[in-house]
Amino acid sequence: MLSWLTRLGRMTLDLLFPSRCLGCGKEGSLICAACRVTLPVISPPICHRCGKPQQDGSLCPACINHLHEIDGIRSPFRFEGIIRLAIHQFKYNNLRHIASSLSELLGIHLAKKPIPGEILMPVPLHYRRLRERGYNQSQLLAKELGKLTGLPVIAHCITRRRQAIPQAKAASINQRCSNVSDAFACHGNLKGKKVILIDDVATSGATLDACAAALKSAGAASVWGLTVAREV
Ligand SMILES: [Zn+2]
Ligand SMILES: [Zn+2]
Repeated sequence: MLSWLTRLGRMTLDLLFPSRCLGCGKEGSLICAACRVTLPVISPPICHRCGKPQQDGSLCPACINHLHEIDGIRSPFRFEGIIRLAIHQFKYNNLRHIASSLSELLGIHLAKKPIPGEILMPVPLHYRRLRERGYNQSQLLAKELGKLTGLPVIAHCITRRRQAIPQAKAASINQRCSNVSDAFACHGNLKGKKVILIDDVATSGATLDACAAALKSAGAASVWGLTVAREV
């Protein structure tokens, strides 16, 4: 009851106080036009699998050793500055309506640099975390991106079987991979489907890789990941 009242209070605050830019505080939008041009864009050359900056554009060492199921990951931004702040507010401070601004940035990136895909699928949250937060930020992103691209969103065909230790706390890439492997289950037939997984931020890519494994075992032909930001 208390958390419901807290949420209602926050929504009322949102209505009473219009959006201010997260970067400069200017009133009007959450990321103003002036701050948009300063966003931490990831520019090529990148690792052609995980999308992290990589000097010669070849596979990075982490992909050679660890990412095997995901066909590729792309993210327009580094997880820094206003983008980091925006995602933090989006996930932990109930700033749900920033989903449309962030999805617009994803849509612009996708239009410029298309990746294969005919279905959008949000990375699921464990039900316990979903209950605490009240929403899955990735699902909000996928829904808004679906409106922009016309691609269908399938949200409930994949579930998170167990709650992972937050990726930031699992120190090594090996720990991160074992942390999430078998964490997802897919309950649908995706035979021949090309899926784009949507998430807010990719750290090691291990979560997307584990999702891709579950989707491919359900028949998906290809699985790409698209995240707003990427830790580099
Ligand atoms: Zn601004
Ligand atoms: Zn890579």
